[in-house]
Amino acid sequence: MNTRVRTRIAPSPTGAYHIGHMRTCLYNYALARKNGGDFIVRIEDTDQKRYVSGAIEGILADIRDYGLDWDEGIDVGGDFGPYKQTERLEIYKKYIGELLDKGYAYYCFCSQERLDKIREIQKKNKQIPKYDRHCLNLTKEEIETKIKAGQPYVIRMKMPENEIVEFNDLVRGTIKINTNDLDDQVLIKSDGIPTYHFAVVVDDHLMKISHVLRGEEWISSTPKQILLYKFFGWNVPVFCHLTVFLDPDGRGKMSKRKGSVSARSFLDEGYLSEALLNFLMLLGWNPGTDKEIFSLEEFVKEFSLERLHKKSPIFDRKKLDYFNSYYIRLKTDNQFFDLVKPFFKKELAEVDVKKLKVLAPLLRDRTVTLKQAVELGRFVFEEIEYDLDAIETKIKDKNLARQILSDIIVVLKKNDFESQTMIQDVLIKLAEAKNYNKGDFFMALRIGLSGNSVTPPIVECMPLIGKETCIDRLKRLIKELKE
Ligand code: GLU
Repeated sequence: MNTRVRTRIAPSPTGAYHIGHMRTCLYNYALARKNGGDFIVRIEDTDQKRYVSGAIEGILADIRDYGLDWDEGIDVGGDFGPYKQTERLEIYKKYIGELLDKGYAYYCFCSQERLDKIREIQKKNKQIPKYDRHCLNLTKEEIETKIKAGQPYVIRMKMPENEIVEFNDLVRGTIKINTNDLDDQVLIKSDGIPTYHFAVVVDDHLMKISHVLRGEEWISSTPKQILLYKFFGWNVPVFCHLTVFLDPDGRGKMSKRKGSVSARSFLDEGYLSEALLNFLMLLGWNPGTDKEIFSLEEFVKEFSLERLHKKSPIFDRKKLDYFNSYYIRLKTDNQFFDLVKPFFKKELAEVDVKKLKVLAPLLRDRTVTLKQAVELGRFVFEEIEYDLDAIETKIKDKNLARQILSDIIVVLKKNDFESQTMIQDVLIKLAEAKNYNKGDFFMALRIGLSGNSVTPPIVECMPLIGKETCIDRLKRLIKELKE
């Protein structure tokens, strides 16, 4: 058994990093950090057909932007590299040689057509589709002749017959499978590149990985991997297969239809990394208390494999919103301004940064995400539209609203616009003098200035919008309410 805790994630650069991958990453990170061990990021790029250019850089950036780091990997190096599988082909060659010599692996020259044909027959006969071992007993000479003649081949694993493979999964308990139910898995493909099953075992062993924490979808691959450890006579790491996320309706796995699923998309929406991490901490693990708010440091301290969930957790986006609102409200004015600025710059043609600095604290306590803050605050910077249907649900009496707006215009014209307390005073006096209901009064003003019924404190926004624009907007709404 390896005594030093060494964990890893092994992303394949086949597309965007999923939010579920990020949870796996977080738990591996926490286990290593808690035990003073090492956390490794290894790139599993053996499936060249599914390789997406830019995916490696994307995945590494995602992990970093979530606030996690690693001790060994393609960019930071380490004593067990290279950390990208296509740069390790010589290593796999050596180890496949060992299996061939020991008789645990064999060459297979069967064509795809032949394999398809036997699969079809097996399916018809309701048998489990498996390789029929046509090439198992080729002689050394036959193999050499075929290779010399340039015939393409793969190298397969020779499954033992009728043997029980057993392993203990820390989440699922004991898992047993009969080798008769397993196929003679391809270990080296015809292009000389190993398959996942082979490379993962060689690498986890050579990199001295002590614990393999990965998604549940890999559990059926584990018995084949355990056998490979046995063939080599290597110690098996601790296995721990993490649950999948469910959709809130409880009807299956979290799906794209209900919203974004890539780790990056949540950052793009304006969820903060600390909120995302806190949310993920509790999606598969529980602290055994009611405590919900965890910094990364606290989580590392408290994380334990014994408290991993056995039941798949529900990916409750409302809970994520709750964490995000919580962490957003902890930001100082300056911190929030720095966070929200790039979102405004991305969404709006032009942003007056000085005004945004004043506006940002008003948005902070009213928004769930940074992107939503832009929606709440954009009326301060750009031309607005009135959605009359939506307005009519908020303004019941159009005549009254027009009256209110005209009265406001009159006092705004007469008064200085520098201080928001002054505007506030003038407006309150007006509402009282005319006996307007305050709700109706401020709703008409709010909609007139922003087009919306929900805004940051509207009077505080008025000096930012400017006197002329305020008056123009109110005039425009009066006109639109007539039609
Ligand atoms: N390359 C696999 C993946 O994309 C890694 C599976 C494992 O952790 O063993 O998730």
